[in-house]
Amino acid sequence: MDCGEGAQGSFVRFGLGLNREMLVLITHLHGDHVNGLLGLLQTMSMSQRVRALTIVAPPELFGWLKTTMEVFHIGLTFDVALVPVRSGVVYRGKDFRVRAARANHSVDAWSFVFEELPRPGVFDTAKARSLGVPEGKKWSSLQRGRSVVVGGVRVHPSQVLGPERPGRSIGYSGDTRPTKRLERFFSGVELLIFDSTFAAKDADRAVERKHSTSTEAALLAREAGVRGLVLTHFSARYRRTDGLLRESRRIFPDTVAARDGLVVDVPALQ
Ligand SMILES: [Zn+2]
Ligand SMILES: [Zn+2]
Repeated sequence: MDCGEGAQGSFVRFGLGLNREMLVLITHLHGDHVNGLLGLLQTMSMSQRVRALTIVAPPELFGWLKTTMEVFHIGLTFDVALVPVRSGVVYRGKDFRVRAARANHSVDAWSFVFEELPRPGVFDTAKARSLGVPEGKKWSSLQRGRSVVVGGVRVHPSQVLGPERPGRSIGYSGDTRPTKRLERFFSGVELLIFDSTFAAKDADRAVERKHSTSTEAALLAREAGVRGLVLTHFSARYRRTDGLLRESRRIFPDTVAARDGLVVDVPALQ
């Protein structure tokens, strides 16, 4: 989600792997959100990436990308699919999807929600045995939602699977003012990563530059009923983020401040 300067360095430093299934989501075309893209693509190519890569972004990015690659004679070892961002589902993976909604910033800007698809319910092994289903192939068929026949009797997945388990979701605001639309869009996500450029005392600047304060991020997180909040995109005017964090925690206690290499667990839902 966004690709600022230094993205490739961080990828390597934190061992994220350059040939994994991957999707690049760009919220808007300000340098601090795209300057690292070319470097990341080149680094992937130098490490012989073969898997195709999808980039979801405002469409103006694509002309720039093509021209720059031509000018610098950059060839890639993998295919790149360019998807213009729009409201709604912008990408479907095997077990996840990504939705986008319009943000409110000084240029055309978007927010994203990364959603795991619901997972099948817990498999009741005792129930399967009591129905005479032998362990092995037939168990895995049932686990994948397919019915099986045992001794002439059909056993349906609903007989041995618990209720479907909801997937987890992560929201990312990009640069934006807080809006009602985003409050709805992020409703109930497990983790929300939100613009926290300014402290409440600089609220007029936040309005002027079309960013949010940490207090506004916290209020939106509370209204949207999210589980955890990560503040990010801090203005260089603050030497430390403690003040921003304190401000947010008064309203939304489950807040952390982003930093390079921060790892946040998003526990599976039961
Ligand atoms: Zn911006
Ligand atoms: Zn920015």
